[in-house]
Amino acid sequence: MQGSVYLIGAGPGDPSLITLRGRDLVGKADCVIYDALVPPEFLSWTKKNCLLIYAGKRAAKHAMPQEEINRLLVEMSRRFASVVRLKGGDPFVFGRGGEEAEYLAAEKIPFQVVPGVSSAIAGPGFAGIPLTHRACSSQFTVFTGHENPGKGESSVDWEGIARIGGTKVMLMGMSNLAKNMQALMDGGQNPDTPAAAVQWAATGRQKSVRATVGTLARAAAEHRIGAPAIVVIGEVVNLAKRLNWYENLPLFGRRVVVTRSREQAGSLSDRLRGLGADVLELPTIRIVDPEDKKTFAELVVDAPHTYQWLVFTSPNGVRRFMKAFLAAHSDIRGLGGAFIAAIGPGTAAALGSYGLAVDVMPKKSVAEELLKEFGSEEVRDKFRGVENCNMLWVRGGQARGVLGKGLMELGAIVDECIAYDTVPETGDPTGARALLAAEGADVITFTSSSTVKHFAALGITLPAGCRIASIGPITTATLEKYGFKPDAEASDHDIPGLVEAVRKLLE
Ligand code: SAH
Repeated sequence: MQGSVYLIGAGPGDPSLITLRGRDLVGKADCVIYDALVPPEFLSWTKKNCLLIYAGKRAAKHAMPQEEINRLLVEMSRRFASVVRLKGGDPFVFGRGGEEAEYLAAEKIPFQVVPGVSSAIAGPGFAGIPLTHRACSSQFTVFTGHENPGKGESSVDWEGIARIGGTKVMLMGMSNLAKNMQALMDGGQNPDTPAAAVQWAATGRQKSVRATVGTLARAAAEHRIGAPAIVVIGEVVNLAKRLNWYENLPLFGRRVVVTRSREQAGSLSDRLRGLGADVLELPTIRIVDPEDKKTFAELVVDAPHTYQWLVFTSPNGVRRFMKAFLAAHSDIRGLGGAFIAAIGPGTAAALGSYGLAVDVMPKKSVAEELLKEFGSEEVRDKFRGVENCNMLWVRGGQARGVLGKGLMELGAIVDECIAYDTVPETGDPTGARALLAAEGADVITFTSSSTVKHFAALGITLPAGCRIASIGPITTATLEKYGFKPDAEASDHDIPGLVEAVRKLLE
């Protein structure tokens, strides 16, 4: 067999800055070979059986020599239909993408290139520095600072770069920063030219400093700014005083831990990142198929003609149930006319995505409140109540028993349809746990009792000064049971509510 290789740019750091095509191909890939500067969130986009191979650098040495990466690409393309080579930024801006493509071409392996947003472009952008501006820069030059100018072996034309007008962007130049700036000044660059260094650009860890060509090396050392960083040189740097939009976001510089499962973290992480937070995804749980797949399948198939009520208590339940239902019935109309009850706006939204409206939903997202609704006159008038009704409760394996018991007390006949199980996430492929231990965090968020339970079971110690935000009273009670004291609880027990609570806590 002969598959294709896709050389894909993952963008500069924020997981949402990959192209639509890039993300689509990562989702379909059989094998992904990735580098160090690739945002780790891509791991949640890959297929279940996708083979993941890390080919990045560790510390100062290559984890894998380039020759080996080239050979690996060829070998994998012979084993799999779709091989993704995922690189930080743009694949053809430094980082040897060109060499890999040459090798593939020589071996006659079909390949495609999917460009990405280079740190050379996004780095200045996230530091509020336009690369061009009608008033002061009509061109820009990108160069590497990796080759030591002192040793006389650099292929970089330092004098040429010093002389040329417009904005200059240096990549890979931090370990030789002082020498690099000196080489430019020796070539005639005015030492007073504004210059900035931006580390971890376009990520929550971004740090930047503004100085001049003459003073940048010292300023960067003072602010402890090292690799990976880009350096921008030119009058445009002055514009950052007014345009520094990213670093002025309300949660910029604050690290917030997300403990939801990797598949589910996205909605919370995205909102926090939108406010500038440095989001650390540290999934404590994983959603898996229910232990008893056969019973689940049978209940789903029988659902339409058996139940007057379908009760959903989590978005996962909705998605698992609907996926199985549509696989068996292939037409949404097969669901028939059962009434639908739900807990939580996320659950309602998941139902809405299948075109299903919710008949009964309590204002507060807890089981006790849904029971109150079911017992109310309104539900009795509108839906003839639930007494003697057959109800299917679609739930996770670990849900509390309150709802089932309460419904039976109201006279309903309840079948429980366990659509998924929650298991502890034991792996740490992104190094999030190590990072939390080494650097700490400002806030840790808990979105369910199971995230709390499994967090405790993993034995991770909460770093000093890290505060706790809970999504609602049930999660709070579980936190307390495990000896944690939440500093904030969301007033609306959903993701936007939790984000609001985090924001207030950090303001
Ligand atoms: N292909 C990549 C560059 C690879 S070379 C791109 O287009 O961005 C690696 C260098 O890129 C680093 O030394 C650093 O200078 C720069 N870089 C990559 N990601 C960065 C980030 N998030 N912030 C600042 N610089 C970054």
